[in-house]
Amino acid sequence: KESRAMKFQRQHMDPDGPSNNSNYCNQMMRRRNMTEGRCKPVNTFVHEPLVDVQAICLQGNITCKNGQPNCHKSSSSMKITDCRVTSGSKYPNCDYRTSQKKRHIIVACEGNPYVPVHFDASV
Ligand code: 5GP
Repeated sequence: KESRAMKFQRQHMDPDGPSNNSNYCNQMMRRRNMTEGRCKPVNTFVHEPLVDVQAICLQGNITCKNGQPNCHKSSSSMKITDCRVTSGSKYPNCDYRTSQKKRHIIVACEGNPYVPVHFDASV
């Protein structure tokens, strides 16, 4: 079974990306299995080395959107792609807007080793 840590990597890690094209989210949301059953409405991919994203778990605790205390914010801004389903998108044809950004990211971490398991926000 896929661990929560592996799920985070599938949904959010693309260290070698992004290919500079407006179809990035359409391709990646499908390739990473986030368009099965429904179109996942919002998802962020991070274009930084995995070790750098794992290191965010060493930053001080902050409160996650759901009220849990195990969120952590990156000390530096990171290259990300924000994927958002378009208003006209109709499942199973999931259509996304692709926006490249540089933002601090907030992730939730869990386990031993203590690693990212949830993407909370970019700020
Ligand atoms: P909206 O901007 O539509 O009101 O809410 C989208 C929220 O989802 C934003 O606060 C954004 O930071 C957050 N978000 C961005 N990417 C992801 C993601 O991959 N997973 C989750 N759970 N939230 C995300």
